[in-house]
Amino acid sequence: MMKKFVYAFSEGNAKMRELLGGKGANLAEMTVLGLPVPQGFTITTEACTQYYEDDRQVSPEIEAEIFEHLAKLEELTGKKFGDPSNPLLVSVRSGARASMPGMMDTILNLGLNDQVVEGFAKLTNNERFAYDSYRRFIQMFSDVVMEVPKHQFEVIIDQMKEAKGVTLDTELDADDLKEMVVRFKAYYKEQKNEDFPQQPREQLMEAVKAVFRSWDNPRAIYYRRMNDIPSSWGTAVNVQTMVFGNTGNTSGTGVAFTRDPATGENRLFGEFLVNAQGEDVVAGVRTPQHIDELKDIMPDVYNQFCDVAHRLEQHYRDMQDMEFTIENGKLFMLQTRNGKRTAHAAIKIACDLVDEGMITPQEAVCMVEPKQLDSLLHPQFDQKALKAAKEIGVGLAASPGAACGKVVFTAEEATEEGKKGEAVILVRLETSPEDIEGMNHAKGILTVRGGMTSHAAVVARGMGTCCVSGCGDIVMHEAEGYFELGGRKISRGEYISLDGSTGKIYGEAIPTVAASVSGDFGRLMAWADEARQLKVYTNADTPKDAVQALSFGAEGIGLCRTEHMFFEGVRIKAVREMILSKAEEQRRVALAKLLPMQQGDFEAIYEAMQGHPVTIRFLDPPLHEFVPHTEAEIKELSEEMNISVEEIHNVIASLHEFNPMMGHRGCRLAVSYPEIAEMQTQAVINAAINVSRKHPEWKIVPEIMIPLVGEVKELAYVKSVVTKTADELIAQSGMELHYKVGTMIEIPRAAVTADEIAKEAEFFSFGTNDLTQMTFGFSRDDAGKFLNYYYDKKIYEFDPFAKLDQAGVGKLVEMACKLGRQTRPDIKLGICGEHGGDPSSVEFCHKVGLTYVSCSPFRVPIARLAAAQAAIKYPR
Ligand code: PEP
Ligand code: MG
Repeated sequence: MMKKFVYAFSEGNAKMRELLGGKGANLAEMTVLGLPVPQGFTITTEACTQYYEDDRQVSPEIEAEIFEHLAKLEELTGKKFGDPSNPLLVSVRSGARASMPGMMDTILNLGLNDQVVEGFAKLTNNERFAYDSYRRFIQMFSDVVMEVPKHQFEVIIDQMKEAKGVTLDTELDADDLKEMVVRFKAYYKEQKNEDFPQQPREQLMEAVKAVFRSWDNPRAIYYRRMNDIPSSWGTAVNVQTMVFGNTGNTSGTGVAFTRDPATGENRLFGEFLVNAQGEDVVAGVRTPQHIDELKDIMPDVYNQFCDVAHRLEQHYRDMQDMEFTIENGKLFMLQTRNGKRTAHAAIKIACDLVDEGMITPQEAVCMVEPKQLDSLLHPQFDQKALKAAKEIGVGLAASPGAACGKVVFTAEEATEEGKKGEAVILVRLETSPEDIEGMNHAKGILTVRGGMTSHAAVVARGMGTCCVSGCGDIVMHEAEGYFELGGRKISRGEYISLDGSTGKIYGEAIPTVAASVSGDFGRLMAWADEARQLKVYTNADTPKDAVQALSFGAEGIGLCRTEHMFFEGVRIKAVREMILSKAEEQRRVALAKLLPMQQGDFEAIYEAMQGHPVTIRFLDPPLHEFVPHTEAEIKELSEEMNISVEEIHNVIASLHEFNPMMGHRGCRLAVSYPEIAEMQTQAVINAAINVSRKHPEWKIVPEIMIPLVGEVKELAYVKSVVTKTADELIAQSGMELHYKVGTMIEIPRAAVTADEIAKEAEFFSFGTNDLTQMTFGFSRDDAGKFLNYYYDKKIYEFDPFAKLDQAGVGKLVEMACKLGRQTRPDIKLGICGEHGGDPSSVEFCHKVGLTYVSCSPFRVPIARLAAAQAAIKYPR
């Protein structure tokens, strides 16, 4: 049988999401449920993939199938495409499996042309409405399908309003709109050197192709990379009979959520506009009314809508985000989907649904996107400072959290400054899909126009970025580099603060404080902890980090990078002294100075961790990282150590390496200078002995981790230094203290000889930062410079340093686990590279049976939730 590429809404259901996309599957499901859905059909995601396989052509077979379904739709509706006496008009919308901002969204009123509009005017007995629909169609089609710059259309509208002396679009009459159509078409011709397409069939096929194309635009690619969506999924296209919200005052259009997407509160939440089409709400051009007001304006429609909303939520057992249109007093549902929500709302809704008996705790755990938690874990405003601060304005509380940063006015500036590590607030009239990258780099987003469902609000909530939208009091002077608000003039580069939970705007920097895991958040995390099998450790180098991580639920330290303690004040001097030493004896003197400091640090960490496992990694970076850089520092050191400046320069020169990441670092340092490993062992064992004396109940078992091992003999050598030193100290102490020596697996050779390595190593921790670097042969410090070319050409779709490359690096991990277990069945296996806090990588770690993942303190709750979801999806 030939593959089917087009489905009528009545032929699908919600389970067919992969094929029909989210929008298409839900339109089909609503049709099956008997809800009022304008009928139509969905062109499948496979048709999109086929389009790309066929070199960006829609094959004649698929085109024929589309027109077959169009004919059926004509039959069903009793209208005809392109027939002025009774025209069928459609909307064309994209719909991937997961909703994706940045892709082509909607073309309305397709099927209108110079003749059809006349017939449509007669049929509706409303010339103004017909021409308004036509001018909107020309505008949208030109912009999103034909890529004609859209700004000029707005200019034409403004010019016409000015000439007539009116301020609102609604004050333009039928003749004005007819004139507008003429001007729009003239502008189109000027831009494209051809007439605006008059053939409805041609319009339809062009729109379908535009949707397919938009799957591959830079914004969509960027969004996919951020959200782990593979390019192979493709998007579906929905073609739906038009219903009109702009026929007059008994019509309207709106967007609503079954629960508040910002707070999670269980009440209908949304906005609508009387006498308007969908894009008016989403674009935020007119400020909409609250859904509750619909009760007074059209009580029957309101009640019916409440019923539908309730049914949909019960049916999907999740908060729904719905689009609707009212045409001459009759309600139509245009879309429903699980609504995007803030992290705060996601948690509240998940807990409430459990309490309402709608879902199980396990389902609640699976309902919250782990990455979303990020916004709850980051600082909130310091309440005292907040009280003292003076607000200069208020907008809508569109996406919660606190943000403080320097004002920028364009997405490009936000990206540029954000990449430099600057905290910026992006201030815009309104945002559009092309701003997505800049929005991602901003700490906060402030818009002048737009409601709670405007682009800025929806996208910011999805990203967990603080957003205040629709602050109409702002007067923008973007070209001059400032805006005015509350009597203040705020220029580019000045600090402002936004409270996304109250909508308040402050013309100053307000300090922030750390968040905590409590209330519903705590409940959800407790359910997650019950479900997960992976332990979650943290990468922490200081007692402060350790305490932070513990408060977020860390169960141990998987990586303590000891060198991070070397940089402070007097320590760096002792480290430099060690590096400049010419003989072992001299080196030992310097190391003796470091010993008490390092030991003190370890004691503090053991105290902070209260008996939880702590893995301490020995010195790893190349020594040149510690040498002085400025002439002043070199001079100071020369005086202190009584060595000539020239000699110091010579040492620095001798430490220079062409490729330091593959140079004299890791366990190679301990092979050359075993006394360094000796000192570090003393520091760890002494600290463990001292803290164990005070707290025998903690049963401390130090875990010493040797970095960058590639050959079992080098591990055996360093281990012999460690055990000799440790055993002597323990014997002297008269205490019983067990300790473990293990290694990082971060060199491919270690992974492929893991059976040998496991003879010496009591545990493995996958250092996937280095393992990725060495497997790809990409410098982890330089890859950012060229990976963009790879993303553009789809050679790689994501950053392998952020998300584990399961096909390559993951294979090495899997192999090393297997080989390691062959030698030592109970070997403790963990990961401490950056991937330990990335949800999809955590899922992989669960599948290969690691004991734990270790990640930065702020990602601990994310890893806990991701580990739980992995365990629920793939029980082991
Ligand atoms: C690693 O390589 O993955 C690792 C954790 O070590 P570092 O990042 O310190 O090299
Ligand atoms: Mg490493």
